[in-house]
Amino acid sequence: MNGFMKQWGMTLFLAGVLLAGSLIALLPEAVMTAADPSPVLVIDAGHGEPDGGAVASDGTAESGINLDIANRLYGLANMFCVPAVRTRTGESGLWDGECDTIREKKNSDMKNRVSAVNAVPGAVLVSIHQNAYDGFVRGAQVFARSEEMSEALSLGIERALKQRQDIPTRASSQIPSGLYLFRNTSCPAVIVECGYITDPSDLSRLQDPAYREWVAVAVLHGYLTTVCDK
Ligand SMILES: [Zn+2]
Repeated sequence: MNGFMKQWGMTLFLAGVLLAGSLIALLPEAVMTAADPSPVLVIDAGHGEPDGGAVASDGTAESGINLDIANRLYGLANMFCVPAVRTRTGESGLWDGECDTIREKKNSDMKNRVSAVNAVPGAVLVSIHQNAYDGFVRGAQVFARSEEMSEALSLGIERALKQRQDIPTRASSQIPSGLYLFRNTSCPAVIVECGYITDPSDLSRLQDPAYREWVAVAVLHGYLTTVCDK
């Protein structure tokens, strides 16, 4: 009886060791999957009613241009089977219904935008904006988070934008510190400023659907050749 128990005891012990060993062997894969999800393009159309963002001399607000380019980019991503989601899909910002004042709506919009980005595993954030300056400055420019994939994506989009030599594309730069959306997210991220809404030649291009489509193609090209090509 004792010998029988000892034999089973040893068998159970060995089974336990083998089971533990196989679980440990499975662990790295499970950890890797959780830490390294497939990239998802998160398209963020900057601003949204009541926040129009930068406004041109003719009253054109950047929020509508941002939305149109974001929606075109989303359509193209779907066409090429690139996993993509959008933060806002309509003219309105992402504020909660009970907000009253513009300040409340803006604060609520920012918080909800952060939550929308942080809810996506594998998020790669592309935020679409238009620039403004009180003086003669024009051209598109991409800004990146100080991080490897963000910088690669930024340069990829810049390269694609530069294919059009009639449009001045400025050199990529870093996302300025302090911007709420980027301070409260940690995924790879770029801001694409598609042009200066304050410059008459940039503005007339931005008001042309063909240019907005071309910008969307350039952004997707940059994404496919950097993030998806790893
Ligand atoms: Zn903006």
